[in-house]
Amino acid sequence: FVKRDAERMQQALVADATASVLVVKQPDGWTVAAQHGLSNDLLGKTAVDEFAVLRTVTDSRMPGPMGLWDGARIGRMLGPQVPLPGLEAVRVFPVEEEHETLGALVLLHPRKGAFAGLPDDGVQTVLALATLALSNRRMFEKMERMATTDGLTGLTNHRTFQDRAAEALQRSIRYKKPLGLILTDIDRFKDVNDTYGHPVGDEVIRQVSAVLKQQARTTDVVARYGGEEFAVVMEETDAQGGLMVAERIRQAVQKIVVQTEMGPLKVTISLGVSSYPTHGHEKHILIERADQALYTAKHSGRNRAVIASSPTAAEPPAAQQPEKA
Ligand code: GH3
Ligand code: MG
Ligand code: MG
Repeated sequence: FVKRDAERMQQALVADATASVLVVKQPDGWTVAAQHGLSNDLLGKTAVDEFAVLRTVTDSRMPGPMGLWDGARIGRMLGPQVPLPGLEAVRVFPVEEEHETLGALVLLHPRKGAFAGLPDDGVQTVLALATLALSNRRMFEKMERMATTDGLTGLTNHRTFQDRAAEALQRSIRYKKPLGLILTDIDRFKDVNDTYGHPVGDEVIRQVSAVLKQQARTTDVVARYGGEEFAVVMEETDAQGGLMVAERIRQAVQKIVVQTEMGPLKVTISLGVSSYPTHGHEKHILIERADQALYTAKHSGRNRAVIASSPTAAEPPAAQQPEKA
C-alpha cells in the first residue's frame, strides 16, 4: 500500500506537476518539443541550458538539482529563451533510447521541495511516452532528410533541386532580383573509373561535393544533379557573380588530391553559368542555357567556366565533334 500510495502521489504530481517541458537534443541546444502548464510560445524555442543541467543529467544519467535550487535559479535554468517563472521545485529526467540521449523531461512545481523524497518510478510511464514521442520525431526527421538528400554526397538530390530552384526563381521574379545557376560535370570521369575503379570514383565525387558545399553560400542550393554532375542555385547573383563563384569552385577542385593505391589523383571540372533574367525567365530554359555553356566549356578544352551566351548575341561557333572520352 505504501508503494502504491507513493506511486499514486507521484503520478498525481507528474499529472499536475503544474509545469513540464520536454526538450529535444539538437546540435545547437535543446529545443522545446512539448510543454504543459507554461506557454505555447515556448514551443520550438531553443534552450541554451544556462547552468548545463540538462547536459550534466543526460551525461551522468543522475537526477537533476532537486531541492538545491531557488525559484530565481530555476527560472533561468533553460536560459532567457525558455523562461520558467514562479516555480520552486525542479526535476530533470534524461530521455534516451539505446544509450543515446534524445532529450530531457523537465518537471516543475510551484512548491519548494515538492519532489523531495519521492521515488522516480512513477515517472517511468511518462518517460516511456516521452521517449516514444522523441524517437518518432527523430525518425520522421531522418526520413525527411533521406528523401531530400543524396546518399553518397549529402547534397540536395535531383528532385529536391528542381523544387528548390523553382521556389528560388519565383522569389527572384517577385523581388526583381537576379538568380544564378551553375551546372558542372567532372572532366573525363570515365577514365577515373576505368583506371582507379568505381570506389575511387565515388571518393572523387564526395570530395568534389565537399568543395562545392564549401565554396557556396549557406543560402545557395548545392545539388547532385546526376552521376558526376552538380548544380548550384544562387539567389541575388547575376551572371558575372555566378561566373566568379564558378571560377572559384573550379580552382578549388583543381587543388583536390585523392590518395589512391596507384598514387595521388587529381581531377578537374567544367562549368556552365546562366542567370535570370539575362538568359531566360523559366527554370527549364535557365537549365538548358547553363547546360549549353557547360557543353561549350567541355569542347573548348575542359577545366573552365563559361557563361551562357546572351540571347541577343550571335550563336557561338558550332562546336567541334565531341571528343572521345
Ligand atoms: P566529360 O569530360 O566529357 O564529362 O567525360 P566523362 O568521362 O566524365 O563523361 P561523362 O560525364 O559522360 O561520364 C560520366 C561517367 O560517370 C559515367 C559513369 O560511369 C560515371 N558515374 C556516374 N555516376 C557515378 C557514381 O555514382 N560513381 C562512380 N564511381 N561513377 C559514376
Ligand atoms: Mg556527366
Ligand atoms: Mg563528365
